[in-house]
Amino acid sequence: MTRLLLVGGGHAHVHVLAALAANRLAATEVVLLSPYSRQIYSGMLPGWIAGRYAIEECALSLDALTRRAGVRFVESSCTGLDLAAQQARCSNGDLIQFDYASIDSGPAARPLESVDCAGQVLPVRPIEGLVAAWPGLLQRVRQSGGEFRLAIVGDGAAATELAFAIHARLVAEGLGQARLTLIGGNSTLLAGFPFLLRRQAARLLAGRGIAHRAGRVVVAVHQDHVQLDDGSQLAADAALLATGAAAPAWPAASGLAADAGGFIRVGPTLQSLSHPFVFAAGDVAAYADARPKSGVFAVRAGPPLAANLRAICTGQALQPWRPQRRALYLLSTGDGHALAAWGGFSASGAWAWRWKDRIDRRFMAQFGA
Ligand SMILES: Cc1cc2nc3c(=O)[nH]c(=O)nc-3n(C[C@H](O)[C@H](O)[C@H](O)COP(=O)(O)OP(=O)(O)OC[C@H]3O[C@@H](n4cnc5c(N)ncnc54)[C@H](O)[C@@H]3O)c2cc1C
Repeated sequence: MTRLLLVGGGHAHVHVLAALAANRLAATEVVLLSPYSRQIYSGMLPGWIAGRYAIEECALSLDALTRRAGVRFVESSCTGLDLAAQQARCSNGDLIQFDYASIDSGPAARPLESVDCAGQVLPVRPIEGLVAAWPGLLQRVRQSGGEFRLAIVGDGAAATELAFAIHARLVAEGLGQARLTLIGGNSTLLAGFPFLLRRQAARLLAGRGIAHRAGRVVVAVHQDHVQLDDGSQLAADAALLATGAAAPAWPAASGLAADAGGFIRVGPTLQSLSHPFVFAAGDVAAYADARPKSGVFAVRAGPPLAANLRAICTGQALQPWRPQRRALYLLSTGDGHALAAWGGFSASGAWAWRWKDRIDRRFMAQFGA
């Protein structure tokens, strides 16, 4: 019996599970290793924070998906691979032997240089950690009567969407006087997005009183302030870390070929360049054709990954995959509107939010949510 190990229940692997549910693999035991029995869909997370969705609407049940697919579910994290022995080490102490492994375990939070007050810091990843911590943060803002200062560390799409979402939620609760500040190392908000979208996002932030400190990196978080790389300080009662995707340490430490950032280098068939019995997809992978870290590309990798895992387990030829060049980005602004970007084009409106809502709900419905 061949054993295929799926590490992580990310966007590509939920597609693999759905494909297995539709057409099981003969003579293969498939195991899913994931620290949580559900997968929170990050695209809907800002909507949950803004109060538009219940958390159940944003969660896929990995339990149910694995049951339907006839896959054994192990609720634990992978801490490393022994590539010579073809074994995965788990945080619960188990060792899982595999013939083939596929890794879709997502990015890790980018750590700060120094944190002397861990209780003040909310990393966006793991997302389950943010889901657990957000009600406590909201409660602290309520108790302050709105006299609260939140530093949002990051200036990309996730940080900006979260800033809009948090602001919308606080306004809805009558706490609109809380001070939100986005702090990012880039010279501009939403670097890489079309100019008109960046300008509109900046205007919307300013119109809502959300401050933005560009070109500055937060190096430390203290009890009542964050420290920036130019030595200045910003008063803050808490810091939300949304600094973009960093690679988890364990894949490169296990000996998988990785790029300079520690992301697993894969060829067009999604096989590791150093160990072809290991596949990787989603944010943890460095594709042959480099693409931005984004849920869109993780979702798109699902069908080719499912097909190639089936092919390798059944001795068929693997097919190359070339990710699309462009992706549609829809950033909700927390008020029932969204900003849309496709390549160099951008637009906005309530229609864009309705479009995003429909796409996200359709994605969830595919997997039985
Ligand atoms: C607030 C927010 C909003 C976003 N909105 C969008 C958006 O609208 N559109 C978009 O394209 N992108 C969006 N992104 C980016 C998007 O979340 C990521 O690009 C996407 O999640 C990457 O998917 P993935 O499959 O690689 O990993 P993930 O979705 O992170 O899934 C990884 C899975 O692996 C599990 N895992 C982690 N470590 C281990 C381990 N060691 N062992 C076993 N399992 C493990 C995790 O629990 C998780 O279930 C957003 C990000 C954030 C934070």
